[in-house]
Amino acid sequence: MDKQEITAAFIKQYGQEPEAAFFSPGRINLIGEHTDYNGGHVFPCAISLGTWGAARKRDDNKLRFFSGNFPDLGVIECSLDQLKYDKKDNWANYAKGMIYYLKEAGYTVDRGMDVYIWGNLPQGGSGLSSSASIEMLFGVMVQRLFDLDVDRLDIVKMGVKTENDFLGLSSGILDQFAVGMSKAGQAILLDTNTLDYKYVPLDLKDNVIVIMNTNKPRELVESKYNERVEECQTALKELQQKLQIKALGELDAQTFDEYMYLIDKENLLKRARHAVLENERCIRAEKALEAGNLEELGRLQNASHMSLEYDYEVSGIELDTLAHAAWKQPGVLGARMTGAGFGGSGIAIVNKDQVEAFKENVGRIYEEKIGYAPKFYVAEVANGTHEL
Ligand code: ADP
Ligand code: MG
Repeated sequence: MDKQEITAAFIKQYGQEPEAAFFSPGRINLIGEHTDYNGGHVFPCAISLGTWGAARKRDDNKLRFFSGNFPDLGVIECSLDQLKYDKKDNWANYAKGMIYYLKEAGYTVDRGMDVYIWGNLPQGGSGLSSSASIEMLFGVMVQRLFDLDVDRLDIVKMGVKTENDFLGLSSGILDQFAVGMSKAGQAILLDTNTLDYKYVPLDLKDNVIVIMNTNKPRELVESKYNERVEECQTALKELQQKLQIKALGELDAQTFDEYMYLIDKENLLKRARHAVLENERCIRAEKALEAGNLEELGRLQNASHMSLEYDYEVSGIELDTLAHAAWKQPGVLGARMTGAGFGGSGIAIVNKDQVEAFKENVGRIYEEKIGYAPKFYVAEVANGTHEL
């Protein structure tokens, strides 16, 4: 897909030229998983798989949305005067949420729009954040069409609100930040406690990032995610009996070690230990990458997966099979699950010349054990949401 194709698709649907076209990426997270709602660090980058969109303002208050990925839903029509969550509006609720929060912040959006979108992120919870991709797509689209002087970081925060408050799905800021703020060829180290961030060139030398999609049908993610959020909050409260902290991300491993006796349940101890150690691994991984020490980056990714598998317990047989199979392959520096877990995708850093053998071997091991094939993509590290 490119500008011409999304423009042509818009014209075919609406019979007029769009005013502008956009691309919004998906994301992977190199390391720092389930740390973003614990005030820890994350280290994501955007990928060249994502969502394209074309749009045109209307003279009335109608909002018309069409997704090439869901043609059976047809044109979803809503009104600018009724920006409330409505189940029947399906995916268009993401768009409505973004417009709602822009208007709530005082920006003038006074006419309707016709919009066409299409994406090539695997649908059905791939863990590559298609939802943040479309949130940021709509945020930037409305900004451009209505000439709004709004900060990119504010659009990112509106994406989080759309997910959390408009749709009622809990999540941290990782996805929208990565999708909205990324730069090609760079990863972003983000401190979710302070929102301080820095760009780090993602120089992988002779290696590439291979995305491994489990193809597992989506289930349980929301309820298990909420359970982890609550478990971490409970563990934090117990630590706060003696420690003056607001988030688990403020703790270093040594302090955690000395105070973990305050947590009186094994599962809560394991969740908190992951949050603390994963945050430290994330900070170390950024330093390793900057120093060109890709071996260490890889080892930290492996450690991250082990922690997510055994302490945080969010990986599941599919992601474990992919990571463990990847670790056994020649030319692999590191591998781990990425995203919330319970299915979705993993990533591996693999020597360029060994990618084909990697895909074949990991694919075979996975299919033998799980019963269906995974899918592989080589990630290109892309720019955040932008006009084409
Ligand atoms: P992910 O891990 O990919 O973010 P989510 O369940 O959070 O998974 O978001 C997926 C939802 O986002 C889909 O069910 C759909 O409502 C919406 N979505 C994503 N991409 C598209 C698209 N190209 N067209 C329409 N809706 C989309
Ligand atoms: Mg999502």
